Amino acid sequence: MTSGNNEQPESMDKTVEIPESRNFIREIIDEDLKTDKFGGRVHTRFPPEPNGYLHIGHAKSICLNFGIARDYKGLCNLRFDDTNPSKEDIEYVESIENDVHWLGFDWEDRLYYASDYFEQLEDYGRKLIKKGKAYVCDLSADEIREHRGTLTQPGKDSPYRNRSVDENLDLFRRMRDGEFPDGSRTLRAKIDMSSPNLNMRDPVMYRILRATHHRTGDTWCIYPMYDWAHGLCDSIEGITHSLCTLEFADHRPLYDWFLDELGVYHPQQIEFARLNLTYTVMSKRRLLQLVDEGFVNGWDDPRMPTITGLRRRGYTPESIRNFAERVGVAKRENMIDISLLENSLREDMNKCAPRVMAILHPLKVIIDNYPEGKVEELDGANNPEDPSMGSRKIPFSNVIYIEREDFRENPPPKYFRLSPGAEVRLRYAYVIMCTNVVKDGTTGEIVEVHCTYDPETKSGSSQNKKKVKGTIHWVSASHALAAEVRVYDRLFTVEDPSGENWKTLINPNALAVLRDCKVERTLSSAKVQDRFQFERLGYFCVDNDSTKDILIFNRTVSLRDTWAKIEKS
Ligand code: ATP
Ligand code: MG
Repeated sequence: MTSGNNEQPESMDKTVEIPESRNFIREIIDEDLKTDKFGGRVHTRFPPEPNGYLHIGHAKSICLNFGIARDYKGLCNLRFDDTNPSKEDIEYVESIENDVHWLGFDWEDRLYYASDYFEQLEDYGRKLIKKGKAYVCDLSADEIREHRGTLTQPGKDSPYRNRSVDENLDLFRRMRDGEFPDGSRTLRAKIDMSSPNLNMRDPVMYRILRATHHRTGDTWCIYPMYDWAHGLCDSIEGITHSLCTLEFADHRPLYDWFLDELGVYHPQQIEFARLNLTYTVMSKRRLLQLVDEGFVNGWDDPRMPTITGLRRRGYTPESIRNFAERVGVAKRENMIDISLLENSLREDMNKCAPRVMAILHPLKVIIDNYPEGKVEELDGANNPEDPSMGSRKIPFSNVIYIEREDFRENPPPKYFRLSPGAEVRLRYAYVIMCTNVVKDGTTGEIVEVHCTYDPETKSGSSQNKKKVKGTIHWVSASHALAAEVRVYDRLFTVEDPSGENWKTLINPNALAVLRDCKVERTLSSAKVQDRFQFERLGYFCVDNDSTKDILIFNRTVSLRDTWAKIEKS
């Protein structure tokens, strides 16, 4: 009701059954266990590149990899693919560890880095040179690109392709020893410049790059390319099933080639479709732009699809895990409706978030026949659906606040809230009737509503027989706490903001700050990250910007309209 354009259409509110966690990946694993392909082992890994914060797509991969390890009583490693020092940072490493733990998964003592294996990878490089399967190439990056050919045209051999093994070994050592400038030489695999798969056209394995690495410092001036390192890291760690996203299907023949040429342990790579969400961008490059160009206030901005953003917004780890389970894994690219994520959250919050009353747009109501100075402590259930969550005392007095929207001087038909001469129930309290309004002399705005209450209508009392059509929430003016509420909407205005014009599709109204809110007294003990249902308004959590003077809440997600439900009670 107060959320304007954020309301969910009814159809999106359907509860979705959690499917049995069968999927094609588990079928492959079952089969491998049957045939004893990996000696009964199941060992996966989550391999992030520490060049940004994790997002909801990564969460899916985390749930998949750690979930499979858990269900098959196997193991899952956390491995940082830190082969690109110029873009990586320790800040990202720490945030990633934090996010994986927060999601509820643990790599125990299996935290690895591709950089742990730099020596080993260099050895492997030499091994390929000795086999005549790799060579040092003096072409520049641009020339390599020109030689590569296209999908319809074969590439051209590099003029350096037929260097002798000895010359290659010597040049590779000198690359490593820092004798050559950045970008002047590469080590390339000698495969096939006319392969229909472009990845097989003598891909670069090493480049010369003087960049300080966040772990190895300045030890190295050659760095392995992702395609060279990735499959070999999986092999070194004894990974059985290397789960990765579809775009790596075309790289699999290359990984296989490296493993087979080296004659080392061979994991099974399986590709699945990456998670795409409506109204969301998911590439780290774009998320970085949102942060760097000030479209949001940092990686943990509650509008961001990052795990840290979702956490600050109030998402629970359970809701994200349930969501990941529900979307399952697909073999083809698809787009998941963001309302599925929001519904997972609502379901979880409905169970665990205590109900409280809060007013986002306060309108003062004076109950003229209620004694001034009198305070009654009324009982409010913390969760009407779950008596084990107990109840709390809510103070009632002669001056209260209600939502501005819950009063209309000229009500439309079927308006069951407060209007002149009409009666409405105050949740957990009495039925009141509006007698008159006070307006601002110049603006005409309603500043006060006067009412009388019916003492025989106290909620829960035996004499309470009166039935009225509407129930509204309220807070006692002298007991309420001041609060700021940040109301979020989707970050993009269209379902698919993936085009080049994506920045023009950012929703300028994705954040509305309401600075004059009133929340019930119970919230005085609320701590950062505590989650609540503000009755009739949605789910909210305490933001870490809160101070001792003011509570700041994020609206986590709107509620489906609960009018019908409340009217019955
Ligand atoms: P981005 O494209 O957002 O920059 P990335 O793939 O480069 O992401 P990595 O750090 O390499 O980011 O990803 C770590 C793991 O997470 C990889 O195994 C990758 O396949 C997986 N992953 C990344 N994005 C998604 C996604 N949208 N859905 C599912 N898995 C994903
Ligand atoms: Mg990647």
